[in-house]
Amino acid sequence: MKFIFPLLFLPLVIFSQDPDKVEIIPIKVTEEVYMMKGAGGNMGLLVGEEGILLIDDQFAPLSEKIMAAIRKIDPGPLKYLINTHWHGDHTGGNENFKKAGATILAHKNVHKRLSEDQFMQAFGRQVEAKPKSYHPNITFSTEMNLYFNDEAILIFHSHVGHTDGDALIYFPKNNVIHMGDTYFQGKFPFVDLSSGGSVKSLIKSINQSLILIDDATQIIPGHGNLSNRAELLSYRDMVDDMYHRVKQSISSGLSLEEVQAANLSKEYEDDWGGGFISGEKFVKTIYDELSRKE
Ligand SMILES: [Zn+2]
Repeated sequence: MKFIFPLLFLPLVIFSQDPDKVEIIPIKVTEEVYMMKGAGGNMGLLVGEEGILLIDDQFAPLSEKIMAAIRKIDPGPLKYLINTHWHGDHTGGNENFKKAGATILAHKNVHKRLSEDQFMQAFGRQVEAKPKSYHPNITFSTEMNLYFNDEAILIFHSHVGHTDGDALIYFPKNNVIHMGDTYFQGKFPFVDLSSGGSVKSLIKSINQSLILIDDATQIIPGHGNLSNRAELLSYRDMVDDMYHRVKQSISSGLSLEEVQAANLSKEYEDDWGGGFISGEKFVKTIYDELSRKE
């Protein structure tokens, strides 16, 4: 098992596929908003009279294909690109889209982490600092508004969650939110502790999204399928329950081995265990976080 985890993780941080074999698939969410799948994190798209706004950009070898897919939807100019966080499956195309004229917006910690060498503990992998051509042009700390295409777009960071630089993007008129990797739809979450992420704070971040949206809101998750508030609610409940189960076990004095042996995620495996984070791995992440802080 020790072997398998890093191998399963790799597609999320390193692009190892043949770009010719990746298809960029647009999914129409509203008249103005699209979700796009390819390889890596789900992208979002807002189109309109003033031009195009893209959310996340997957891997650099896919930029031309992504641009071609955008052109089929709308031939207008690409004005803005928002990074939901610094991970390479969401920011790999930054340089290409910046050259194509996009102004890149992100949380300030995305700028910081792209500017400095990073070590991703979950993958045991060093990630080198990126040149300035990849960095965001404009950063924010808590929230910012972008008035574009008749939308009052809210770009906000509520709590550290998946990383310490998560941005969530809400389009109130279209009633769509892109949650980045704070939401792995239908899967156990990946929380990147070495990038300042926290399971405890992820729960708070999801709660903030739940307050903002309503039952008709369509949710673009960082990974997985287009979703809604009811599904996000059950995701939050699972994450919250797992967090408290592990916390309780630690309070009872159990070691990581004993916690793993207790198989705390058993009842959730069928519904949430199909992704690259197993229940066992999620338990270890929570255990590591709680041991780190207590
Ligand atoms: Zn990520």
